[in-house]
Amino acid sequence: MSVMPRLRALLATVALVCAGLVAFDVAAPPAAHADECYTWSGNLAEGSSGPEVAELQIRVAGWIGDGTNIAIDGEFGPQTARAVRGFQEAFGLGADGVAGPETYNKIYELQDADCSPAHFDFAEVSQNCGTGGYSGGAVSAAEVQENLKRVMWRAEALRQRIGNHPLTVTDGFRDYSCNDSVGGAGDSRHLYGDALDLVGYDFCSLVSGATTTGFGGILGPGFPGHDDHVHIDLRGSQYWSAPDCGL
Ligand code: ZN
Repeated sequence: MSVMPRLRALLATVALVCAGLVAFDVAAPPAAHADECYTWSGNLAEGSSGPEVAELQIRVAGWIGDGTNIAIDGEFGPQTARAVRGFQEAFGLGADGVAGPETYNKIYELQDADCSPAHFDFAEVSQNCGTGGYSGGAVSAAEVQENLKRVMWRAEALRQRIGNHPLTVTDGFRDYSCNDSVGGAGDSRHLYGDALDLVGYDFCSLVSGATTTGFGGILGPGFPGHDDHVHIDLRGSQYWSAPDCGL
């Protein structure tokens, strides 16, 4: 073999090894990929509107820093600006309330390919009494999935607010038969998929953190049936009760 063919053979081997490595990477568990779930195309600020704003609102709403459960309405108003600033402050970014590349990159980092946030996933929030799935609740399966995504992002903010302490979801979406079997309220938010029951951290600290993370519903110790977990949800009205925690 002369030098050139040898070099070509060597290069071909290198290429095969690289290809193998690439294939191995693809088979590994999914990391955050901007383009697999959602990618923003430009800056968003007060006055912006449209689906890109709604996608942003879903991801930053929990960082608003108070009890405001901001509407996911695609209208970038003062509340959305506050949530964006809260998100930016939480991650040490320039806090200007304008969503741009820095903010998006942090979201991409937190975002899994299926649009769930880094520390929660669809499997754990759709146990549904062991049956799994998203059907048989108060709204369509698609709406349940969307609601679960929204409440998971809110829970991600709560998790960060309490110092990145891992949390365990004991209950998320329930269909009607599951809800009946666990004695859930007839109009439980679990039927809509926008409620989570959490354990894994001091309950009153969890309740306290939840009051600045924009939840509609917060139920904890002292509220009937809630001494062994903290319930959070995205109902439109505010309903907070955890008497043993002073709420
Ligand atoms: Zn609950």
